[in-house]
Amino acid sequence: MKINRRHGKALQALSRLRFSSTGMIPERYREEVRRNQLVDNARSFPVVLSGALVLSILIFAQYSFFPPLDLSAPIREGYVIIFATMAALSLVWLPVVFLSSRMPVNAVRAAIGMYFLLLLTWSMCVSFLDLATNQGWDALIIGIMVYAVVYRSSLRNFLFALAWILSAGTAILLFFYRGDPNPGRFLQFYLYCFVGILFAVQTESTRVETAILRAGLRDSNEELRTLAILDPLTKMYNRRYLNEYLAHQVPLARRLGQSISFLSMDLDRFKDINDRFGHPEGDRIIVKTSDLIRTSVREYDLLFRYGGEEFLVVLVNTEMADALEIAERIRENVEQGDFGLSDRKVTLSIGLSAIPADGDLQSALSTADHRLYAAKAAGRNRCVAV
Ligand code: GH3
Ligand code: MG
Ligand code: MG
Repeated sequence: MKINRRHGKALQALSRLRFSSTGMIPERYREEVRRNQLVDNARSFPVVLSGALVLSILIFAQYSFFPPLDLSAPIREGYVIIFATMAALSLVWLPVVFLSSRMPVNAVRAAIGMYFLLLLTWSMCVSFLDLATNQGWDALIIGIMVYAVVYRSSLRNFLFALAWILSAGTAILLFFYRGDPNPGRFLQFYLYCFVGILFAVQTESTRVETAILRAGLRDSNEELRTLAILDPLTKMYNRRYLNEYLAHQVPLARRLGQSISFLSMDLDRFKDINDRFGHPEGDRIIVKTSDLIRTSVREYDLLFRYGGEEFLVVLVNTEMADALEIAERIRENVEQGDFGLSDRKVTLSIGLSAIPADGDLQSALSTADHRLYAAKAAGRNRCVAV
């Protein structure tokens, strides 16, 4: 067959459908999208199940006790069997509603998927009986629309549902109408199934695309947030985050009756290092110092680059005595650190303070600064805590 422009357009449309289908979810969001599908299905499942249960019990009772008089006995029995089966199966599936949180994820997924497949099959069977009594395809159309709008799954599962309903439906139609093969009946049935499942795929791919966009937006927001609060050189938090962090942490510590200690530090004679070795070398020393500070404290202590070669360490739930020990450890580790400068040590001075011992947040921070200056004045490379 020669492919002309019209075919080209159709193929393009098909490839777009494939692209937007659930099979094309970027790897890093696949897990999340699948989980959201399951959560949504688990949420809608009880509604669909109870609707189907009530409907099938009511209609079962109607056909059992007040059957329409113009129905032949086999057709009436057919309705009774179909609605009784659906009511019974819905009862069998009822425990899934209550046990889903304790069931393995894959079991919940399979149980819900199978129930929706049953729902399709059921509405198809009702429609076939309606067909025998010259009514319309309403049952199948309603069933397939509920399926398309409510059920969320992968493209593969939707295609499986299509294959299932087409083959089961064809087999039933061939069996019951073997004396009266009417192609119109088949065509109409196939048309409803195709359009219905296409609608399901399109609806789901739109939902998935929206979910991927939302997840991407959330991730880039998180990335931006990280960039906004981290110092690019040392990967310590920046000053902007300090205020935000303390505004949250200080009231919390006060409520818990805990103290917070502050270590305000400044590298000694750093201008001299810059002047002798150059600014890039100075930057390298700042990074190396920040690494030494990081490895000297606990993982949950907060590190801030306060200024050019100034750092602030915030020790939550730490009394001054312990803070002084930590400060000494940092000072020693920096003093003994190998910075690769032939004839010169790198040292820093540290001023300590704590809340509530040194008053409120602002006065504690300025006390730490004053003690830092005191450490400088007393000869540098030392910690001052009083
Ligand atoms: P002191 O012992 O009194 O602290 O002496 P100091 O020379 O370190 O004095 P001060 O802390 O006032 O000077 C800080 C110097 O650090 C000034 C500036 O040249 C340098 N500096 C500030 N920020 C940076 C930076 O990001 N990179 C580099 N390489 N140098 C910086
Ligand atoms: Mg300084
Ligand atoms: Mg300095």
